[in-house]
Amino acid sequence: MQITTDIKQANKIKELIKKECANYDNGQCILLEIDCPQMNCMYSVLCKYFINSILPLDKELYKQLLPDAEETKELYNKVCQSCNKQFTTDKKNGQYCPKCKDKIKKEKTRLRVQKHRDKCNAF
Ligand SMILES: [Zn+2]
Repeated sequence: MQITTDIKQANKIKELIKKECANYDNGQCILLEIDCPQMNCMYSVLCKYFINSILPLDKELYKQLLPDAEETKELYNKVCQSCNKQFTTDKKNGQYCPKCKDKIKKEKTRLRVQKHRDKCNAF
């Protein structure tokens, strides 16, 4: 999927990244360990993380860049109960951002396995 932008939209994208992107640090992308590729990009949106996680935070820009996506699902703006970061989800009751949800799920599995083991050891 190719998303093209004009200069005005590109500048908005850069502001959004600076403000909201969890992987952006001083011009660098923590994930890729190189300069943020999106920051050098004027006419298109390359970053999948940006499209999925950052762009929906700006509803107006989201609608401009992805006019078709709006109708398929409704997104809710939420604040993560664990890390207090803003995120969007299509689930009305979503409490945790995708990163924390994953962490919590793993933690729960670990606890369950541990509990199970404790029970076994008691006999
Ligand atoms: Zn979180």
